[in-house]
Amino acid sequence: MRGLLVFATLFVAALCKDTFVGDKVLRIIPKNEAQLSLLKEMEEMPEMDIWRGVTGVGIPVDIRVPFHQLSSVKIHLQKHDIEHSTMIEDLQVLLDEEQQEMESSARFAQPRNTDSFDYANYHTLDEVGTQFGNAPRLKPLSQTQIYRFQDMLVAENPSLVSKIVIGQSYQGRALNVLKVSKAPILRPIVFSLFSTGGTNRPAIWIDTGIHSREWVTQASGTWFAKKIVTDYGRDPALTAILDKMDIFLEIVTNPDGFYYTHNSNRMWRKTRKPNPGSSCVGVDPNRNWDAGFGGPGASSSPCSETYRGPKAHSESEVKAIVDFVKAHANIKAFISIHSYSQMLLYPYGYTSTPVKDQAELHNLAKKAITDLASLYGTYYRYGSIINTIYQASGGTIDWTYNQGIKYSYTFELRDTGRYGFILPANQILPTARETWLALVTIMNHTFQNPY
Ligand SMILES: [Zn+2]
Repeated sequence: MRGLLVFATLFVAALCKDTFVGDKVLRIIPKNEAQLSLLKEMEEMPEMDIWRGVTGVGIPVDIRVPFHQLSSVKIHLQKHDIEHSTMIEDLQVLLDEEQQEMESSARFAQPRNTDSFDYANYHTLDEVGTQFGNAPRLKPLSQTQIYRFQDMLVAENPSLVSKIVIGQSYQGRALNVLKVSKAPILRPIVFSLFSTGGTNRPAIWIDTGIHSREWVTQASGTWFAKKIVTDYGRDPALTAILDKMDIFLEIVTNPDGFYYTHNSNRMWRKTRKPNPGSSCVGVDPNRNWDAGFGGPGASSSPCSETYRGPKAHSESEVKAIVDFVKAHANIKAFISIHSYSQMLLYPYGYTSTPVKDQAELHNLAKKAITDLASLYGTYYRYGSIINTIYQASGGTIDWTYNQGIKYSYTFELRDTGRYGFILPANQILPTARETWLALVTIMNHTFQNPY
């Protein structure tokens, strides 16, 4: 009976989820300006899912093409003599493998503490609810996996870690931020604590998962949280930083999107707020900031993956961070983590005017990616967003830089496209470990160069 129930539940779950059978991810390398503009047109076509956008001549573009569009897209490419190769033969095969790994990992008992947490696997938001076929699908949000991890970490380290709720997602999920601080903790923590301006200790902000499908980022963020707690008092550099500065870490920055990637559509990137007058849902939370908002490099179409939203800070997930950063008023480094393509980027994205700290940001990026590569030889490109990827308006770190946070960076973690967003779980720990080295370099530089 149990077996039948499990089977029935899996069957229902499978019916609810979007599938990608036969979808391919194509890599296209534009040879000239004409091909570049043809690819830009393709980006705007409905149903094209851009994994890696158009940058420039000779730089790869990765596009997921639905099975039923494959032949027309291939004919289109051939007609214009645009070369392409297949990066992913059948997306559903990779997704099935990913799902199987998660299910075999979830069979183990729930971790009782953060030492036994399985950092080497991806975690859903409702593992507790779906382990057994007859369990209800919806569980109280406080019991979800990564939130539970956060609560355990706080409970285990009450004098070092606290949890702040900076707002709510559109669907009402808590926007949790872990605060790591050696300053005395005032309880209960109330938001007005941060409204005094100037009295807060200098701080470093790190966020992961603002684009929900970039799963290696939330997984790395979870590992970073544990790493910070483990290394405090042991690693001299981190200890010195934490004795003077606080670290804020938002692991699931787009929780509605993250939930949706696990339960409905693995490829979901945006928020989940409906758009009035459109059947398409969600806003790109990395085009929604008040920095060149509405300019080139963001879409005004609600159906686009880079839809900027009706107005700047329209998304509660973005607005919560805006309010927090302004109220805190003493954040010195802001690091927003994405995947994929292995890049470390600094502002600007919306304009080609260099930031006034360009030389320092460039040198620090070079040092950070050199330290990152020292572990496994992973190669990163670096530079300003507009020069390294493409023009993008309304991005997170352009806004934070304009708020006076000099050390504003964005990472694009592994890989370079072999798996793209479906990075196998056995790469989580290596990705997190190498990225940590770059983070420490940036944090250390921030600590040693007060401003
Ligand atoms: Zn992203």
